[in-house]
Amino acid sequence: MRKRNSVLRLPEANCNIYSDNIMQRRKIIIHVDMDAFYASVEIRENPSLAGKPLIIGAMPSERGVVSTCSYEARKYGVHSAMNIKEAYRLCPQGIYMHPDFEKYRKVSEQLRAIWNDYAVKMEPIALDEAYLDVTYSAGNFERAGEMAREIKERTRSELGLTCSVGVAYSKTAAKTASEEKKPDGYFEIRTAQDFVDLMIDRDVRSLYTVGAKTAEKLNRIGIYTVRDVQERRNEILDRFGRHGQLITELAFGIDDREVTAYKPEDTKSVSREVTFQEDVNNYQLLDDVLFLLAMSVERRARRKGLHGKGITLKLTYADMKSITRSRTVTSADRAGTIYQETARMLDQVNKRPVRLIGAGIYNLTGDEGWQLSIDDYLEETAAENQQIIDRKLTELGERYRLDFAGNLDKIFSGPTLYRTIEYMRKHS
Ligand SMILES: [Mg+2]
Repeated sequence: MRKRNSVLRLPEANCNIYSDNIMQRRKIIIHVDMDAFYASVEIRENPSLAGKPLIIGAMPSERGVVSTCSYEARKYGVHSAMNIKEAYRLCPQGIYMHPDFEKYRKVSEQLRAIWNDYAVKMEPIALDEAYLDVTYSAGNFERAGEMAREIKERTRSELGLTCSVGVAYSKTAAKTASEEKKPDGYFEIRTAQDFVDLMIDRDVRSLYTVGAKTAEKLNRIGIYTVRDVQERRNEILDRFGRHGQLITELAFGIDDREVTAYKPEDTKSVSREVTFQEDVNNYQLLDDVLFLLAMSVERRARRKGLHGKGITLKLTYADMKSITRSRTVTSADRAGTIYQETARMLDQVNKRPVRLIGAGIYNLTGDEGWQLSIDDYLEETAAENQQIIDRKLTELGERYRLDFAGNLDKIFSGPTLYRTIEYMRKHS
């Protein structure tokens, strides 16, 4: 079924959007994405929630966003990453719940066990989402389609949950395919030509590297559809550099990224913690320490090219009892966000003397699995993040009479962080 007018034009010789290995063996990739995962797990556990607008995320009285919502809530226009206040305005009668990540992680492990039965390489990109490379285990698209249906069937019968599955020749196409018939969907995109046929008249935002900000920039120069991108590719390459190249490649259905197998050791978390010489009952000091830990976590994560979506606070009290608090956010990469969220969690704990405090991020993906549209979000929050950091650095400088701003690089190298924190403790 081919649309009229759809084109997969070969680029001119001087246009390097096709890489040399396009003739390599065609990959077969499955993208599995659970339908309204957190909400579905909660409904499975408490069937009285079924059929109701269920919104998992912050409470309407808190700052924060929607993590996931049921399809009933989506009918009111609520969607994930939406500000919780906006969600409440649209759907005041909704049922609001905090996420329970321990619970979801357990289900996620069961899901990964199923996925691993089919994939030669399995790359999780969230608790409820993964790419499976089935090029060699399936061998052809017919068998890959059967595998996809088996995965759906087992997910339903073994776990009581539904998912949407896309089968395609590339990661982007597989992700696009799994979105196509959501929920409980199945869709195939076998070739770049099929991808182009499907996408050619769609909005540029339907390409995965294009977020709101980029779309706006493209719209400003009159580029609205995938076809516009194809036709004006040289201009886009000139104006947008490397990002422009990604957008242009995708408009032609080109995406050579490999599925990167899951390695438990690098998907755990990035965190820093400190044990005090003497227990601390000064919660202002703990708040200040969290800021330095957050700055350090941000640096570590960036060095490793990891992006997080979850933020944790860990405390060990003087009696050795440990607690952790966590929550997900749109992006846990910025020190400002990590600090603000952990400080908020610290506000809500029992105020007893503390022996150890830690901050970390989890639910990590590498640069590869990173959805580029998040770049737009980061761009928007960069200024806000810098403000939080500057404000806090000034505050710390005054409180402890230390020149933090001038010594940041030193502070985060090795044992200096620990010494700085001990110095703060003694002078608090
Ligand atoms: Mg999902």
